[in-house]
Amino acid sequence: MIVEIEKDVLDSILKLSRIKLIFSGDEDKVQSGCIEEVCGILIGKKKKGKILIDEVKKVENVANSRFLFEISPYDLYNAYDYAQKMNKDVIGIFHSHPHGSANPSSLDAKGIKETGLVWMIVGKDDVKAFLYDDKLNKIIELKIKVK
Ligand SMILES: [Zn+2]
Repeated sequence: MIVEIEKDVLDSILKLSRIKLIFSGDEDKVQSGCIEEVCGILIGKKKKGKILIDEVKKVENVANSRFLFEISPYDLYNAYDYAQKMNKDVIGIFHSHPHGSANPSSLDAKGIKETGLVWMIVGKDDVKAFLYDDKLNKIIELKIKVK
């Protein structure tokens, strides 16, 4: 499955994560790191077999940690409320791994499964998106297409 993301949205995610992305064809490379994990909520539209992200809302990392993130229920509620008003969907969440790869930690894996949302992870040198597939009963990596 493919997740499409608008370029300016991806740019702001990377800016929030304080990581600079260099586009080189299909390969996206990321340079330099940052201090704390940052997180946000991805908003867009789900169509048949396709996911489009056209907005991101940065939210506070209430865990306030370099190795953990936690989104408050209040922020999540507001995002759902906002998406509904805009006739959009809450697609997922993003968070950064300023000190590691874009692969999900074991805690992330649990969250991906439990939330059923798209999880975008901004690692030190890559950006990846994951979703739990009910039918396959496992976490799958989504191909990210920049629009
Ligand atoms: Zn993580």
